[in-house]
Amino acid sequence: MYDQYGRNLHYLRVSLTDACNLRCVYCMPEETKFQPRWKLMSDKEMLTLVKIAASLGVDKIRLTGGEPTLRQNLTSLIQEIRAIPNIRDLSMTTNGILLEEMAADLQQAGLDRVNISLDTLDPERYHAITRWGHLEDVLRGITAAEKAGLLPLKINVVVTRGFNDQEVVEMARLTQEHEWEVRYIELMPVGDIADFATEAVVTSAETRSRIEAAFGPLERVEDYNGHDPARPYRIPGAPGKIGFISSVSQPFCAGCTRLRLTADGKLRLCLLRDDEVDLLTPLRKGANRETLRKIMAEAAWRKPWGHGLAEAVRPQQRVMSQIGG
Ligand code: SAM
Ligand code: SF4
Repeated sequence: MYDQYGRNLHYLRVSLTDACNLRCVYCMPEETKFQPRWKLMSDKEMLTLVKIAASLGVDKIRLTGGEPTLRQNLTSLIQEIRAIPNIRDLSMTTNGILLEEMAADLQQAGLDRVNISLDTLDPERYHAITRWGHLEDVLRGITAAEKAGLLPLKINVVVTRGFNDQEVVEMARLTQEHEWEVRYIELMPVGDIADFATEAVVTSAETRSRIEAAFGPLERVEDYNGHDPARPYRIPGAPGKIGFISSVSQPFCAGCTRLRLTADGKLRLCLLRDDEVDLLTPLRKGANRETLRKIMAEAAWRKPWGHGLAEAVRPQQRVMSQIGG
């Protein structure tokens, strides 16, 4: 599936639910209403759309949310997606809260690896950022994911001024102890939190210079595929890696190969633009596979060149938990 700019869109991020067991300050308001179940794709509907995407060349799937571990039948969904012949890479982004009990089953069902969101190692700060979370649950989840072989393990750190920017060096130290990749993500202005995000954003350049002030220059890791938004680096001698996802200060739109399927069945063409194409309504109205293939391929062709943050175009229709990151 190619877009009009020649980008091969082979990576689909599927949001399994808009609901979450946390309320991170940069993601959604504490008082949130989730969509009624009937508005969300059933397992069958989701699998139909994922299979159509795979038939158009998607070979990489990331499950996300809201919080994907809240989705009922998650293990059987994973089994079904794993069984689609084209899919060579199946991963999940999670807050890790429920992983302790689920990691082994998810791995057995066919999940390859996980990215776990963890912004701080300080229990009080963790609670302040997530509003509802307890740090020890995530740490146990990380241990379980490693034990289950959901590797390589990546840790997503959203750097938020006044919340965890003072701790980026401590987070980098994790890569000296573990073979994890710690990825620092710039705060993105999405939906209701856009003003907060604009004020609290910390650029990757600032994060990197704090880390280099503590450890010296980072080394480039050579096995970079060019499509991952986080070019990997390393503290000299460390087993783990460090990445910077600079969506705001240094957009990587030219190399973007992604499409997103929201839990309510819309194909979202760019994380940071509101353009979406409804797939669920035609599916429910009885559109056949060929028609859906055509709708999907035509939508993909129209993927915008890039986001418009520099021109103050911000996505407003959804909060991040409804898109999945
Ligand atoms: N609930 C799961 C989790 O937290 O990992 C998956 C969904 S969450 C929306 C996916 C990723 O987006 C997480 O790593 C989260 O930290 C990140 N995220 C949420 N809001 C963000 C924002 N405004 N800017 C940048 N990243 C954000
Ligand atoms: Fe939930 Fe993930 Fe959003 Fe935090 S970032 S509120 S864990 S969806």
